[in-house]
Amino acid sequence: MINLISDTVTRPVAGMLEAMMQAEVGDDVFGDDPAVNALEARVAEMFGYEAAVFCPSGTMTNQIALRMHTQPLDEVVCERLSHIYQYEVGGYAYNSGLAIHLIDGEYGKMRAEQVEAAVKPEADWLPRTRLVVLENTANKGGGSIYRLEEVRAIREVCDRHGLKLHLDGARIFNALVETGETAREWGEVFDSVSVCLSKGLGAPVGSLLAGSAEDIRFARKVRKLMGGGMRQAGYLAAAGLYALEHHIDRLKEDHGRARILAEALERQSYVAALRPVQTNILVFDLAGDLGSAEFAERLKGKGILAAPFGPKTMRFVTHLDFSDEMLEKTLEVLDGLF
Ligand SMILES: *Cc1c(COP(=O)(O)O)cnc(C)c1O
Repeated sequence: MINLISDTVTRPVAGMLEAMMQAEVGDDVFGDDPAVNALEARVAEMFGYEAAVFCPSGTMTNQIALRMHTQPLDEVVCERLSHIYQYEVGGYAYNSGLAIHLIDGEYGKMRAEQVEAAVKPEADWLPRTRLVVLENTANKGGGSIYRLEEVRAIREVCDRHGLKLHLDGARIFNALVETGETAREWGEVFDSVSVCLSKGLGAPVGSLLAGSAEDIRFARKVRKLMGGGMRQAGYLAAAGLYALEHHIDRLKEDHGRARILAEALERQSYVAALRPVQTNILVFDLAGDLGSAEFAERLKGKGILAAPFGPKTMRFVTHLDFSDEMLEKTLEVLDGLF
């Protein structure tokens, strides 16, 4: 089977498994796991922060960031398609007691004026606007990329209104390999950054939250509270270190294959609209009365797995385990599907 459901479906490569076998481990709840400590130091250093904390998932790093930057009765501002709104079980309300202000942006991205307009005035009956969360790349927006100048304009609004700014950087490296901007430059603009190792980077498990020493000290408490304190997690951290070393530059290959898939989709009569393809994600709407469940079934019958992303919307994601050979096969299937 060819699997285009997500970039999370990859299996560790031989070199990564070897690195995991060789990991020097300890009990990370006591801060004694050398591999975890090395990974946390590495990510903090990459983004120019004082500290980072290794967590089981990107949902956990985002949820910890929300808790870390806010108090109950505060409000978080984000784009309607954001992961923190769509796919984290409403955790902003449950874990942190927050209200949420949704912005209808373009392809999952907000503009500085929209953020400015979302800031609530001080009143007894209103939540306090406290935090802005951006997502780069924007998953449900079709893997779209924020540029630094757009983000700096949003930072400026945050500074004027005393707001914190968090980056959901589950796929930040997909953006950086395309723009040539650096992790360090991105770290400067935000109060905290979350990165996933288990998406395009091809590690089996893990995400990190990076920020100030004081914030990350608190984040470690929240991680423990949420049940995310792991013991010999160094085996996973070793996979993460390997991924950061070997799997960032190659993300460009995934983007190249996505562009070829995009050209193929654009010539199909069953595709009504494809979002601009900037990285490894393709989101498209189906034409006529073709539904996504039926479309996914038909693809599956031809050996390709893909995810419905709405009643008439599909998502394809390219990744480490989607080879040129699989690309050729997929192009054939797409051309002969109906
Ligand atoms: C995958 C993802 C996350 C975190 O997901 P987990 O599956 O919990 O690791 C967060 N934000 C975005 C944009 C994502 O795509």
